[in-house]
Amino acid sequence: MSHVTPNPAPALLLHDSQRRATVPFQPLDPAHIKVYYCGPTVYDLAHIGNLRAMLTADVLVRLLRTLYPRVTFVRNITDVDDKITARARANGEDIGALTQRTTAEFHQDLASLGVLPPDIEPRATHNIGEMQAMIARLIENGHAYAAQGHVLFSVGSFPSYGALSGRNPDELEAGARVEVAPYKKAPGDFVLWKPSDADQPGWDSPWGRGRPGWHIECSAMSHRYLGDSFDIHGGGSDLLFPHHENERAQSLCCFPHSQFANYWVHNAMLLVEGEKMSKSLGNFLTIRDVLAQAPAEALRLLLLGAHYRSTLNYTQAGLQEARKTLDRFYRALSSVSEVPAVPVPQTVLAALEDDLNTPKAIAELHVLANQAMGGDRDAAGALKAGGALLGLLQDDPAQWFRGDASAEEDAAIESLIAERLAAKKARDFAKADALRDQLQAQGIVLEDTKDGTNWRRA
Ligand SMILES: [Zn+2]
Repeated sequence: MSHVTPNPAPALLLHDSQRRATVPFQPLDPAHIKVYYCGPTVYDLAHIGNLRAMLTADVLVRLLRTLYPRVTFVRNITDVDDKITARARANGEDIGALTQRTTAEFHQDLASLGVLPPDIEPRATHNIGEMQAMIARLIENGHAYAAQGHVLFSVGSFPSYGALSGRNPDELEAGARVEVAPYKKAPGDFVLWKPSDADQPGWDSPWGRGRPGWHIECSAMSHRYLGDSFDIHGGGSDLLFPHHENERAQSLCCFPHSQFANYWVHNAMLLVEGEKMSKSLGNFLTIRDVLAQAPAEALRLLLLGAHYRSTLNYTQAGLQEARKTLDRFYRALSSVSEVPAVPVPQTVLAALEDDLNTPKAIAELHVLANQAMGGDRDAAGALKAGGALLGLLQDDPAQWFRGDASAEEDAAIESLIAERLAAKKARDFAKADALRDQLQAQGIVLEDTKDGTNWRRA
């Protein structure tokens, strides 16, 4: 008698900002999971605060791909924005050249951090028609109005406005941090379309030549690529209000029978040495600033060392600590003769299934590293597989310890080591010791084994 046990449904728990609770994740279609993240506005190098959201998305998508057969991950590029126009003008650069260059830099920075690219990366300027169609539909449905070349979303027309961020619309108006403008019927109404001067980027529309507001972009692009309803929408907690609240209002009013995003995932903000990161404090760190000081995996481990919903404090000491932890993990991998390929260990998977508990997952990697150092090859395999799910331990251990100097520098070191070996064989120990001292002075540590000499940078 045979019986087939079906694979149990994954036990993924996620904190949903809208439900304000950690709940079991139930896909709309378990055969195809759909995820949308707000991407960068491309006018400058990405900073480590931007990176935290991209890294949270990366771990979430890697986990979903482990649990489900198909995942479509969409992350947009905002390539029309007044900050872009202003920067291009200040640089004396063409807008298209600026956005293209900055997009390429963004891609390079994320690739160096091992962040996997999205399946679809739509650009706002390639989706103006979709935005205009949604705006026209919102006007038709009575949720938007045109005034003085602008189109505004009427917040009062959508009773559930504020339900995502937990703000009540009256409170919002009383707060009055909203822009008061003559073309607005109510102060909380927000821009879907605005007029462009001749020297600003613009597109022809039924409301005159103009450009879209920021919020409508994500509603249009998520709809085009993921449909009326999709599983997860994510971003930094700074986007919860007004950006995500407005996206939700636009999409639900345009497609009243849809759900828009079924779960909302927001990561907390990042501090630098205990302070909010700002250009005026001089503690503003781009991804490149950090990569000039430490290997990419150290930055990645540091950022994953805090749960995504806790504030993360980036410190120099923390970066050094992360590097030491990776030294330890790589030492564990190199302590067995051959690391076998094994599935992701259950302990690491369970930690991530518990609302992406990355600190717990890293603690489980330490347990595996201890076992591997005791000679357990399977534990070394599990350490590598668990690390891979977090986008870590992707280097060859020998390469990790050598650092990322140029191939020529490495070749020069190798040739001194070969010379030393030849001196030893010729029993010229004075020369061999002198060569060792010379290497040591360059920060190279030698380790003689029966199979030859290993080396690493101290
Ligand atoms: Zn967005």
